[in-house]
Amino acid sequence: MKFFKLRHLTVVCPECQTIFATYEVARMPAIDTTTPVESDLHRILPDAELRSSLLAMCPNCIYTWWLSSFKEHFYLPQVVPDSPPTEPAKKFAHAVASGRKHNVHALDKAVLALNGYWCAKEQGVDGNRFLALAKAELQTALNDESWAGNRSRYNYVMGEIARLTGDFALAVNHFEKVDKSAGLPTELVSKMQEFAVSGNKSSVRLPPHIVGTIFVPGNRAAG
Ligand SMILES: [Zn+2]
Repeated sequence: MKFFKLRHLTVVCPECQTIFATYEVARMPAIDTTTPVESDLHRILPDAELRSSLLAMCPNCIYTWWLSSFKEHFYLPQVVPDSPPTEPAKKFAHAVASGRKHNVHALDKAVLALNGYWCAKEQGVDGNRFLALAKAELQTALNDESWAGNRSRYNYVMGEIARLTGDFALAVNHFEKVDKSAGLPTELVSKMQEFAVSGNKSSVRLPPHIVGTIFVPGNRAAG
């Protein structure tokens, strides 16, 4: 049976050492060809709380960052203060603010903003401010030659962000920079480029065979 599960746990804020309770995604079914994935390469989660649980937010200093960077504490979560009640997508805005305060790289802010956009959609609220922020930060990141990483794939993501914002010329410009190292089927990249050329800014769910090619191990050769 496929299901998602949250776990209540206690963590320590790395900034102010406050001990507090938060949730983590304890179980996430593996992606298979039936998993809903959109053309900007994100998996649609059934509840916005799941994505927001990837972040932890300190109730004392409001420092917010990926939960994986917080140390777990042995106190029971029932006896320590809770993370402040926050709308799921807003947690990503707090994380971007914490990132700014700590002068993190534009790529980190772009990834947070993108997750904020996806989280807003999962929550059923408008995510366009996150999308605009992701666009600005990812452009900054791609203009910085100093980082190594899958630039080709990020050029695809940038193409999608631009297309979703209706900036079709910018979208085409980035889709043209995508090569084999992106690990994406040519069929997908040319389809999205076609969409951009024809002025289509809608979100698109990927067909099962494309999901399989990109995300299901052992299926990659098929692309
Ligand atoms: Zn703190």
